[in-house]
Amino acid sequence: MKTKAYGAQASDKSLEPMDIERRPPGPHDVQIDIAFCGVCHSDLHTVRSEWGGTQYPCVPGHEIVGHISAVGDQVTGFKVGDTVGVGCMVDSCQHCGSCSEGLEQFCESGFVGTYNGKTPDAPGHTLGGYSQQVVVNDRFVLKIHHPEDQLAAVAPLLCAGITTYSPLRHWGAGPGKKVGVVGIGGLGHMGIKLAHAMGAHTVAFTTSESKRQDAHDLGADEVVISKNPEDMARHAGSFDFILNTVAASHDLDAYTRLLKRDGTLCLVGVPEHAHPSPNIGQLIFGRRAIAGSLIGGIAETQEMLDFCAEHGIVADIEMIPAQKIDEAYDRMQRSDVKYRFVIDNGSLAA
Ligand code: NAP
Ligand code: ZN
Repeated sequence: MKTKAYGAQASDKSLEPMDIERRPPGPHDVQIDIAFCGVCHSDLHTVRSEWGGTQYPCVPGHEIVGHISAVGDQVTGFKVGDTVGVGCMVDSCQHCGSCSEGLEQFCESGFVGTYNGKTPDAPGHTLGGYSQQVVVNDRFVLKIHHPEDQLAAVAPLLCAGITTYSPLRHWGAGPGKKVGVVGIGGLGHMGIKLAHAMGAHTVAFTTSESKRQDAHDLGADEVVISKNPEDMARHAGSFDFILNTVAASHDLDAYTRLLKRDGTLCLVGVPEHAHPSPNIGQLIFGRRAIAGSLIGGIAETQEMLDFCAEHGIVADIEMIPAQKIDEAYDRMQRSDVKYRFVIDNGSLAA
């Protein structure tokens, strides 16, 4: 089946309209008419091949929401018309240790990404959600219980939501804990909302003075302008956990020194260029850790969506037609996004 999409033909080319092929739904597949797709900084890193290894044509998009338009004959958990989501993964081996623990993102054979992943389907790599339809194995489809009129703002939960929810849960964000969130972009603004909803004392770190009031409105108890050394020094040795979502290379010591003994700085940003090597003494004296975290498993993604539906949490979005994607990338690159662009996939028909 042919479907309209937006993608890039090379790392130095703008995104453009294209027709792509989707497989007919197999016995365990779900076919989704995509309503909206969030725009993650990973889309930009991939399209521009900042991490290397991008295959073209590249159709990004892994914050997909929409409605089921067909199901395979072995599918029991979903039916035509259901409101569903798809995040960063569309397949994994299903039998390694990580998959059997519900941690498909750490599949020992490598999970199949929603875009730029290996697939037998044409053209040999997966094509993502900047498209009218997608066909996905039902194990990687999530149920959405938010009200229908919030659907566009639910889309970013599928990546930005789970990527912040999972480490906050893993490192025990909750009442009595002081938690920092660094970078108020797509991931960071969700991190603030989620850490606040989990009951942690939440501190936002931003390089943008203009985001100060918004950070409070998102749920931050305190806001620190990270360019201001005195402001930073006031928090030395006080954090249980800091979640760093920054998409560019920067000095990590500025944050490890804010951790308590046994505190953890968890990195989720994947910048194009490496961070300067951290000060090891600061880790040793205080048994502090620098860690990383990758999205979240499918069961935990469903748990996060249900947690957000229960707490009335969605992303703060700016809706765009697909034709405005290059402009959105340029603004995202300049940290000028409040706080997630979401594509109205209806615009692809134009
Ligand atoms: P984003 O919307 O562009 O937000 C990043 C934020 O980082 C910016 O809004 C800005 O916030 C801050 N920032 C940007 N440049 C900076 C600099 N030079 N110094 C300090 N702060 C800077 O990006 P995103 O979509 O949230 O993604 C963030 C990163 O996470 C990307 O690298 C993405 O690829 C990665 N990611 C990782 C995972 C995972 O599983 N680990 C999943 C999804 C995305 P302020 O204006 O507040 O300073
Ligand atoms: Zn993402």
